[in-house]
Amino acid sequence: MSKQEDRFKECDIVIDKFVRACEKPVTHKSKVYYLGVDLGTACIVLVVLNENFQPVAGAYKYADVVRDGMVVDYIGAVQLVRDMKEELEEKLNTELIYAAAAIPPGTETVDGGAVRNVVQGAGLELTGLLDESTAANSVLKIRNGAIVDIGGGTTGISVFRDGRVVYIADEPTGGTHFSLVLAGAKGISFEEAETYKRNPSHHKEILPVLKPVIEKVSSIVTQHIEGHDVEELYLVGGTCCLTGIEEIIQKTTGIPTYKPSNPMFATPIGIAMNCTQEIIY
Ligand code: ATP
Repeated sequence: MSKQEDRFKECDIVIDKFVRACEKPVTHKSKVYYLGVDLGTACIVLVVLNENFQPVAGAYKYADVVRDGMVVDYIGAVQLVRDMKEELEEKLNTELIYAAAAIPPGTETVDGGAVRNVVQGAGLELTGLLDESTAANSVLKIRNGAIVDIGGGTTGISVFRDGRVVYIADEPTGGTHFSLVLAGAKGISFEEAETYKRNPSHHKEILPVLKPVIEKVSSIVTQHIEGHDVEELYLVGGTCCLTGIEEIIQKTTGIPTYKPSNPMFATPIGIAMNCTQEIIY
């Protein structure tokens, strides 16, 4: 086994279990279920874990209820989370009660309330509201280095020292900008570019077109980690599913860069891992 595979062994196993549970939920009864709700700019992800914190069901939907990490369509977000929750309840033949959610770095004071209200408005008891980096690191379990979360609307950068976050930032460049560049280059609509971009068989063709945006993300990362002595970068977020993105980031930052086999679900699974039975909000 290579070092790269070894690094993400546990993380890849749990993500793989989640992907399979989305297709075929594990209906074996659990004493309690823990839910993670990830309200993203591009995608809403719900993760259900059993009493042993193993993925048993999940769902994700592309939606436009959050922009750059902020809830912009409150009613739409509540409805969507409620619908997804009910679908999962039906599949598992249970009631989902407890949920945890997360907010992007630095938006606590402006958006923490909105995220909380969406989760509660969808009929769930909120047991935790954590920052996305802490959530991602519940799955990655890094002690030193930086997690770079390239989502739909933003890129989050969190520097870890001895397992603790020592610096966080969130910058408004993400997958949406990748799609805009691709749409312009290919003369297609934004929606068409989004779908085209997500197909792995197109990645080799589109990487050269997207290289300048990836380099822009790299320069954002370089600016933020300056002075923090970061020796490794770990990529998460849907945009990092792009084949070869890690090589460009590694080359432009000069820092060894790694990603799990499916970086899109690290944060949502980590959110669910932080769900408890203690209602604190
Ligand atoms: P944010 O964190 O900015 O609020 P989000 O949580 O919605 O956004 P993610 O769910 O992590 O972000 O990622 C969504 C982005 O990932 C979208 O831009 C989507 O097009 C992109 N994406 C998803 N799958 C792939 C793929 N296979 N290849 C390339 N890009 C992908």
